[in-house]
Amino acid sequence: MNRTCNEAQPRNKPGNPAEPNPDRLEDLLREAFGFRAFRPFQHQVCQSVAQGADVLLVMPTGAGKSLCYQLPGIARGGTTLVVSPLISLMEDQVAKLQEQGFRAERIHSGRGREASRRVCSEYLYRQLDYLFIAPERLGVPGFPEMLAREKPVLVAVDEAHCISHWGHDFRPDYRLLGDRLPILRPAPVIAMTATATPLVQDDIIGQLGLETPERLIYGFRRTNIAIESVEMPPGRRPEAVRTLLQDAALRPAIIYVSSRKKAESLALELSDDFPAAAYHAGLASETRDDVQAAFQAGRFDAIVATIAFGMGIDKSDIRTVIHTALPGSLEAYYQEIGRAGRDGALSRAILLHSYADRRLHLYFHEKDYPDITILEAISGALTGAKSPKNTVRERLALDEETFDTALEKLWIHGGAVVDPEENVSLGRDGWAAPYREQRAFKLAQLDKIARYAESPGCRMLQLVRHFGDRADSGEPCGLCDFCAPEGSMAGRFRAPTGDETTIIRSTLGLLEELGSLAAGRLYREACDAGPLDRRDFERLLEGMARAGLIELSEQSFEKGGETIHFRRVTIGPGGRRLDPAALGRIAIRDPAPKSRQSKKKSKSDPVASTRRTRGKSRKERAEGAEIDQETPREIDRETYDALREWRLDESRKKRVPAFCIFHDRALAQLASDLPTDEVGLLAVSGIGPAKVRDYGESILEVIRKCGKKRS
Ligand code: ADP
Ligand code: MG
Ligand code: ZN
Repeated sequence: MNRTCNEAQPRNKPGNPAEPNPDRLEDLLREAFGFRAFRPFQHQVCQSVAQGADVLLVMPTGAGKSLCYQLPGIARGGTTLVVSPLISLMEDQVAKLQEQGFRAERIHSGRGREASRRVCSEYLYRQLDYLFIAPERLGVPGFPEMLAREKPVLVAVDEAHCISHWGHDFRPDYRLLGDRLPILRPAPVIAMTATATPLVQDDIIGQLGLETPERLIYGFRRTNIAIESVEMPPGRRPEAVRTLLQDAALRPAIIYVSSRKKAESLALELSDDFPAAAYHAGLASETRDDVQAAFQAGRFDAIVATIAFGMGIDKSDIRTVIHTALPGSLEAYYQEIGRAGRDGALSRAILLHSYADRRLHLYFHEKDYPDITILEAISGALTGAKSPKNTVRERLALDEETFDTALEKLWIHGGAVVDPEENVSLGRDGWAAPYREQRAFKLAQLDKIARYAESPGCRMLQLVRHFGDRADSGEPCGLCDFCAPEGSMAGRFRAPTGDETTIIRSTLGLLEELGSLAAGRLYREACDAGPLDRRDFERLLEGMARAGLIELSEQSFEKGGETIHFRRVTIGPGGRRLDPAALGRIAIRDPAPKSRQSKKKSKSDPVASTRRTRGKSRKERAEGAEIDQETPREIDRETYDALREWRLDESRKKRVPAFCIFHDRALAQLASDLPTDEVGLLAVSGIGPAKVRDYGESILEVIRKCGKKRS
């Protein structure tokens, strides 16, 4: 079919494409791609790209972003250059395009020199519809110049969030793009991602040097997911899950938990009621495959999973996704709830959370991003001369973990130089500001999801706004626990008591008199020494907002370098002339019975105590945190030593410090878990997808070899 595309019509000069008329795009969709109709938003995106606009495209996973460069590329009549970060992804897409009859090729480190040379020549003879390359190719001398000799008609950057260090999967190689794009112009650029918040979007645009790109951000609203967020102490959550899932209409379900142990125990409990299984990285890979296949085939009603579950899952009738702990970011949360209701039927997303989750987050944040004074101390102990890492550490009397983490951060931001043998010397100045910025950014992410969980307002609307969706109606969803409390499955609501009704009236009176007020001030005025504590008052406000009597908005101001959030209360249309019907509509959230730990807390103002936590000592925070350590197993000494040796080799080859390859901690866990596949590697703390991609194969090889020797 490519032949018809490329031979029937004369090839256009790059930058001077045929005027793409809309009908032609539809014809191509049917004839070249074999699809009957565009998915939502694809048509308008294809039109913009075909006409030569630079585009930043943000749509959720599965929305069909690939077509948005594939089709315009063909319409523009020439080669589309596709930059893609993962070899496996590239191979998949090339295979699929070839199957569809297109001339697609790829160049990456996994291919031989001969094959790459052949592909280059095909490119230069304009025999390709698509050329896929890994970003690091752009760093190979002469390669970008080769590409520039026959300019592509379109440059597509897939998984574009990798270019931003604010994104979760930063790839330094992607930074080469900004430098190399200009010689490929006038080809337009389309950058695609599923997970960019507005900050990441700005960064992508800046890094790529796009001057006036169209920002096309679509499709984040899901109209068939009823979202609930329910405050509940951790101890009560397993029982709540069990009770909820008694209702067969809420199954099949995925329940996300925070540890393998919890996955095992909850799955066991649930299987008293219906077929359920645990899924986590500590299981053998065959077991995991079996569980996934059985769930897909409908033989399990529920999967209790750690985050390791979900990426490969393709099941359209998932009715409920339950989170039994607060996820680390709104992006992760959105991705996970998005697995519900792919078939379009009504489904639910239930988030169980409490202040304990928040403390746990803060505890880990403090561990992963040590206080700047620790970095300063290390920096102060360094000189221009190299000294062994451990000498410096002992001089500062820091524990290994804290020291390693802090040194790595110092090194990342240029404040220390570390060689492959782990000798340390003083680096440049100027590391402190970017470190502070990064630390604050991570904290802000945690803050956002925590505020989302507590906020009074339509849940879906908040998510859609978070992603900056452009085409969204801005309407409340009508399904969530804010829009429709009566439909809530996990939360309980009740009518106001007589005392509460009195306070509702006086609150409305105050608002009419004084205009809008901060919630804290309103509380003092309306409940002065009254019967409600601050948290109960917040629940009352929520109920009033839901009934349309007042409006609540989240606001913030800067104070001493910190962002202080507060709620502003304004009288709503229904509050001015309080009619009895409106009063009857008020539904007040019934808090779950408090557990022992949360009783202590509940006296204090939840909002204020969130802020205060920042000033607390590490120990204090850790005490409140419910930390769930996996039972440590013994370390296999031989594997540990072999891994260290391998690491030293790698770090010499790459001329980077050993901890850049892996931390001692990660090596120790590897030597005790002895993983046999990628998912097992991902279970090791400190090993993420990027590490698996770069080193997964070699580590597994080292572990396998040691295993053979043992047996
Ligand atoms: P994304 O990159 O946004 O996650 P993909 O581009 O991989 O999504 O598309 C997801 C799936 O949808 C693919 O299998 C693709 O073939 C299919 N698809 C895309 N557009 C259409 C369409 N217009 N009609 C039918 N299927 C489509
Ligand atoms: Mg994609
Ligand atoms: Zn809603």
